[in-house]
Amino acid sequence: MMMEEQDFDSLTLSQTLPLSQDSFKELWDTVATPSISTISTRTDGCQETWRTDGTMYMLFGNEQALTEGFDEKLFELPPEISTKDSVTPPASTVPVTIDHPGEFGFQLRFQKSGTAKSVTSTYSELLNKLFCQLAKTSPVELLVSKEPPLGAVLRATAVYKKTEHVAEVVRRCPHHQTEDAAEHRSHLIRVEGSQRAQYFEDPHTKRQSVTVPYEPPQLGSDITTVLLSFMCNSSCMGGMNRRPILTILTLETPEGLVLGRRCLEVRVCACPGRDRKTEEENSTKMQNGTKQTKKRKSAPLTVTTDTASMKKSKSSSSAEEEDKDVHVLHVKGRERYEMLKKINDGLELLDKERKTKTKVSVKHEFAAPSSGKRLLQRGERSDSD
Ligand SMILES: [Zn+2]
Repeated sequence: MMMEEQDFDSLTLSQTLPLSQDSFKELWDTVATPSISTISTRTDGCQETWRTDGTMYMLFGNEQALTEGFDEKLFELPPEISTKDSVTPPASTVPVTIDHPGEFGFQLRFQKSGTAKSVTSTYSELLNKLFCQLAKTSPVELLVSKEPPLGAVLRATAVYKKTEHVAEVVRRCPHHQTEDAAEHRSHLIRVEGSQRAQYFEDPHTKRQSVTVPYEPPQLGSDITTVLLSFMCNSSCMGGMNRRPILTILTLETPEGLVLGRRCLEVRVCACPGRDRKTEEENSTKMQNGTKQTKKRKSAPLTVTTDTASMKKSKSSSSAEEEDKDVHVLHVKGRERYEMLKKINDGLELLDKERKTKTKVSVKHEFAAPSSGKRLLQRGERSDSD
């Protein structure tokens, strides 16, 4: 238990890069503004991501947004597909995100990737959530209980998880779009390793999706693997902008009739292993409620007056009223506990001294050096001199 806590603490401390929980303004304040010629196109590290975000911001140069919060429309690009013909107002249809195995028993399965630092894609069963790095391949295994009709396709669609964002279409951020020459550059989700992947944008809802023909499992296997990659970080400004997303995978007939549906949350981040571990731990704590949290995270500090030694040293003539009640204090975090314990130990010591001071002189008792410091002897020079 202690080891686990220490591990986690050291992990947090060694993390010098900005964490994704910071506000945009805080991040902006910490980001150095590189000249345009030094803009890095690397996008797979935490820092680089923030830097490109910062740079992008600089290029657009809207200073107001710094103080007035983030303007969602700031980075809007002209649509790739001409919308002149479609005068119909955008449909209000929200993609369904309810799992439905259907008559073909459609299921997903993920490889066990663990939470090592080096992992680029890892799935949490506990959270039904995929954690992956930007543009790295996430294999998703498809299972069916019986063969779907000929020409069936698998479709992947991204949608914002929260109700307040669900109406907005999930797209890549302008920065990642502009640095990409691919025709489907605005699509967040890509299918890798298939020439038959097709990219769609609904003319009414503008929602984007990618399909790939369903292939039956190869001989000796019970699964079909599709390779997905996510082309923006969850934190990308002007894109997902830290809003959680769900990925909907549907098994469909060639005509688009849904045969089965599976949904999972996806977080695209620099450190999938670390984030999965953290989120799983937080989720476990939440589920176990406060009882378990207290047990795990705090060591009880018993504030007690040492009555036994007190009786011995206490003179019978002392009329002083003592508060002998013992109180238990729950302290969150070991460091804080140690600190409070030191204070309590000090007070205990003072109590003892106070009771014995009539007999013993306590002249130099508190001249002892504090932790890590040596008392300077006369004539000795300090290191800092
Ligand atoms: Zn992006």
